[in-house]
Amino acid sequence: MAVCGQSLQAGCISPVSIKPFGTTAEGIKVDLYTLTNHHGVRVSLMNYGASVVDLFTPDRDGNLADIALGFSSFELYPTKSPYFGAIAGRYANRIAGGKFNLEGMIYRLAKNNPPNHLHGGILGFDKLIWNAEVPDSKKPSVRFTLRSPDGQEGYPGTLDVDVTYTLTDRNELCIDYKATTDKTTIINLTNHTYFNLAGAGNGLVLDHRLKLNAASYTPVNKALIPTGEIKTVIGTPLDFRKSTPIGLRIKEVGGEPVGYDHNFVLGQSFVKRSRIAAEVYEPTSGRRMKVYTDQPGIQFYSGNFLDGTLTGKGGKVYKQYAGFCLETQHFPDSPNQPKFPSTELKPGQTYRTTTIYQFSAQ
Ligand code: BGC
Repeated sequence: MAVCGQSLQAGCISPVSIKPFGTTAEGIKVDLYTLTNHHGVRVSLMNYGASVVDLFTPDRDGNLADIALGFSSFELYPTKSPYFGAIAGRYANRIAGGKFNLEGMIYRLAKNNPPNHLHGGILGFDKLIWNAEVPDSKKPSVRFTLRSPDGQEGYPGTLDVDVTYTLTDRNELCIDYKATTDKTTIINLTNHTYFNLAGAGNGLVLDHRLKLNAASYTPVNKALIPTGEIKTVIGTPLDFRKSTPIGLRIKEVGGEPVGYDHNFVLGQSFVKRSRIAAEVYEPTSGRRMKVYTDQPGIQFYSGNFLDGTLTGKGGKVYKQYAGFCLETQHFPDSPNQPKFPSTELKPGQTYRTTTIYQFSAQ
């Protein structure tokens, strides 16, 4: 298991390089930070949304491919991106009716996914410009910080957020999240990278084999709002306790559009320590990805809303199921669900969580 923040020895490849990626409509410069480890694995991140823009990992023959969906130029991100690679926040996933009660006050949020609130609202963290700094030029790491003012998108409290990405020589992409507030608030941060381990735009992910360390899930209604129940996966197409092709039972899942878009309850969910949450294997390339987290849940989303209207990097069209997301998180709509683990953050407390995506090939 990784120890985030390890130092790298001086090597021949620069561990961090920075280049311009674009300019926002407001004229703000967006830069691309490329982190490279000693095996040539590399990830590029931009200060818009603190987002993963590309991620190159080797297949079983050592050939690198970009396994993260995204656009080749910045200009498409603000208007077209379905959260490609971004940090979702202040509250990832949905809040029913765009409102919640906290310490006797009702807070109203943008209903940007009518009638509900999704991924932090109209100007969620995915659409903000973050400050970026390279903590140590000898280490492939970049730290993004943000101050979200009291009342932004309807949320209470000034929130200081810190998201650090580090690439280790164990081919791990570590994401360390930290936040503090000056007023009681709610928080649920995640990363929304769409992966295709055969290479972004290289077919669908239906043959990828997925294993989830989850015996239960939080069922949702038609609008993808949790019913409040925690149900067993046994006997359902959501049982991924053994490695199973994503496409094998996808039609049985239902939904509009059909596919997986569920929060899985991770083993010993209420214990806050890092453990393996998911493992994905792509048979043609041999690429494998393991996901470790200390969070209670993981959203497995099979790219159901991709519909062939987005053209990504290299001119490749992203059809339905062209990528999948494994979003480590607290359960959707927790602020309205008393039985779900709490997402409250109070002044004096520090929200701290780590997710690790580890890459290998067989
Ligand atoms: C959600 C989906 C949503 C998607 C947006 C996922 O995290 O679970 O319902 O459509 O993000 O791209």
